[in-house]
Amino acid sequence: MKYIVCLGDGMSDWPIEGLGNQTPLAYAKTPNMDALAAQGRVGVVDTVEAPFYPGSDVANMGILGYDPAESYTGRAAIESAAMGVDIPNGYSAFRCNLVTISNETMVSFTAHHIETAAAARVLDALNQHFDGRVQFYVGASYRHIAVMPGAYPDIVCTPPHDLTDKPVVGPSEGGAAVIQALMTEAQAVVQSVGTGATDIWLWSPGTAVNLPTFHVKHGLTGGVVSAVDVVKGLGCLMGMHVPDVPGATGFLDTNYAGKWAAATAILETSDFVYVHVEAPDECGHLGDVDKKVQAIEDFDAHIIGPARAYLKANPDTRIMVLPDHATPCAIKTHSREAVPVVLAGLGIASNGATKYSEAVAVQTDWHETTPWALFKQLIC
Ligand SMILES: [Zn+2]
Repeated sequence: MKYIVCLGDGMSDWPIEGLGNQTPLAYAKTPNMDALAAQGRVGVVDTVEAPFYPGSDVANMGILGYDPAESYTGRAAIESAAMGVDIPNGYSAFRCNLVTISNETMVSFTAHHIETAAAARVLDALNQHFDGRVQFYVGASYRHIAVMPGAYPDIVCTPPHDLTDKPVVGPSEGGAAVIQALMTEAQAVVQSVGTGATDIWLWSPGTAVNLPTFHVKHGLTGGVVSAVDVVKGLGCLMGMHVPDVPGATGFLDTNYAGKWAAATAILETSDFVYVHVEAPDECGHLGDVDKKVQAIEDFDAHIIGPARAYLKANPDTRIMVLPDHATPCAIKTHSREAVPVVLAGLGIASNGATKYSEAVAVQTDWHETTPWALFKQLIC
């Protein structure tokens, strides 16, 4: 049996007046997802348990069948794995955004989507200044990693994307004074480079993670196709194939054909593939309803369509489609409610739904309360 999970990041949403009180997913033309719904089983799943924040890191880890309560140490630890950065024993990695703050207000949590080359100049200057007390590693655009001695299991750091146009809120609880002092010390260095970034923002720390491999945990070989480090890092930590797809951008202009080609290449030698598409989440963060509808329609046409064709040619296959969490355009950030899921393919009987949407999914008889229980349904 082959297993295909197609994940539309942040795809679910709330009803929107301008769409006739439908969600973007219900409003969008999604003939392929609807065909899977008619042929298979539709329901809802709670992807993130309290007290975890409904972030992509925790949610995707759960959907891959790992309980974050056993395995999660922080987003930065996962992204470090994708970047090939080792976190030594006794050290912590922080996610390090380059941001633009003015009058104590978070003007841009991306430093206006700073170019990677400009960001690298800032991080060079920081590495020279801190001289080994903190080590900065260049990721992409505004997303970087800082590694430093110590552990910060109790620190509370606000994700910078939750502060857009709001007064900045510094870290609190265990070790907060140390981290705040680093951010303050970095300020003059960042501004001296003259890129438009004014500050570093340190958040979501983690220590080194040791996960059982996907093969040990589930008895399956597999791979992950994604544009973003937080999902690629999960694949790396799980010992899966994680190809770099040229032109995979994490936005509407991503290379869908390249992503699907990478997925089928993985399926030639492995049992399982996880195809992650970031664009719906980005559109939710922008609050752009039209773009979110387009992102969902593109996902349906360019990923779910080919997945259905694969199922037709290889009937010994199951396909599961879901988001990791909702990113409602109305609030421009993540929310925690259960998300719709559709599972179709070999041995999966219809449960009467004819469409894949939030409203249809909550009315069916299928509700999984954890994503790892859902994963067991996929591979049972
Ligand atoms: Zn997400």
